Amino acid sequence: MKPLRRKHTTQVTTDPVTGKDRVLGWSQEEHVLSDKGSVDSSAMERTFFLDCGCEGQAAGRCFECGAISCKTCHGHCQACRKPICMQHSRFLQSEEGAVRLCGSCFDRISRKQTRAKIGRFVLSLFVERESRND
Ligand SMILES: [Zn+2]
Ligand SMILES: [Zn+2]
Ligand SMILES: [Zn+2]
Repeated sequence: MKPLRRKHTTQVTTDPVTGKDRVLGWSQEEHVLSDKGSVDSSAMERTFFLDCGCEGQAAGRCFECGAISCKTCHGHCQACRKPICMQHSRFLQSEEGAVRLCGSCFDRISRKQTRAKIGRFVLSLFVERESRND
């Protein structure tokens, strides 16, 4: 029995390095008229491994390296909202848990935190000296 209709879908993304289409996956559908008179549909979907090494739907592309990651691995910098892959994510421990940041935001924020700590340290020295003068 020849299929009534066939549908082939290819999921692509533009590779930021080469500028060419890059295949992320494809799906194939087939509609067949059965002997009982019904139209039977069958579909097959294939997804290729993503840059993060997982198989599944691509969730986004890292702004730094262009890697395409799955929903689990892909994330955003919580400071500048840029999309980042797992490899380019830096995690800063805060009171509310780990904060995901991109490299430049991590550097900026951790530098600021260090300065804040130094500031408190200088202030405590100053307070100590004052009390001693009394
Ligand atoms: Zn990356
Ligand atoms: Zn993944
Ligand atoms: Zn950032």
